[in-house]
Amino acid sequence: MWYTCMMISSLWETLLPKRCLVCSGRDRVTRGVCVRCRSLIRQLDAPLCEVCGRPVGTPGVCLKCMLSPPPFDRMVSACVYEGLIQDIIHQFKYRRATVFSKFLAGLVAQGLAADSESPDLIAAVPLHWSRLVQRGYNQSMLIARELSGYIGGVVRYDVLHKTRKTPSQVGLPKVDRERNLERAFTATGVEGKSVVVVDDVITTGRTAREVSRALRHAGAERVVFASVGRTVS
Ligand SMILES: [Zn+2]
Ligand SMILES: [Zn+2]
Repeated sequence: MWYTCMMISSLWETLLPKRCLVCSGRDRVTRGVCVRCRSLIRQLDAPLCEVCGRPVGTPGVCLKCMLSPPPFDRMVSACVYEGLIQDIIHQFKYRRATVFSKFLAGLVAQGLAADSESPDLIAAVPLHWSRLVQRGYNQSMLIARELSGYIGGVVRYDVLHKTRKTPSQVGLPKVDRERNLERAFTATGVEGKSVVVVDDVITTGRTAREVSRALRHAGAERVVFASVGRTVS
């Protein structure tokens, strides 16, 4: 009897399209999200700077990156951090909605599509151990793990470390933001490697610069910083 019920339930799931994790709709659900919900997620407006990935007036490398080259080779974001994707990331990060890992990794993989070579390593922006204990998981690491299935590369949990706890960048005055993350990260075991670092959201870009600096200091040959969302003003 139990076996028959299981058979019917699995047959039912195969016949019926899966439900969207956001709206419960059934229309063309890919990696847990339906076509309508996906249409509400907006990409950054091209042209984008080839290095920092900011929307700029003309194709190529922006003036800021030319005058002061950042410590990463590229920074890529899948979409604008607003509306639906902001809600999904919030649920994913603070409400244990880890079911979105695959969907979010898929978005990051699309953003990285222009990068044809697989990286040697995939890492994630680390959390301080006390934050990790409090939250129970590193949301960016969950994305990194799924991302490896799309773009290749070995996922490494141990190459980046956050050495001290820092207050959230959000809401800090600019001067404090600059100092807040200074020497907060260290890297090991990346000498001569190409590394993709995953973050959920890029706001000021300060974290990206500090993490990339640590990787460069440890001898990384190429650093690509990839996020799901990005704030645009
Ligand atoms: Zn939906
Ligand atoms: Zn730039």
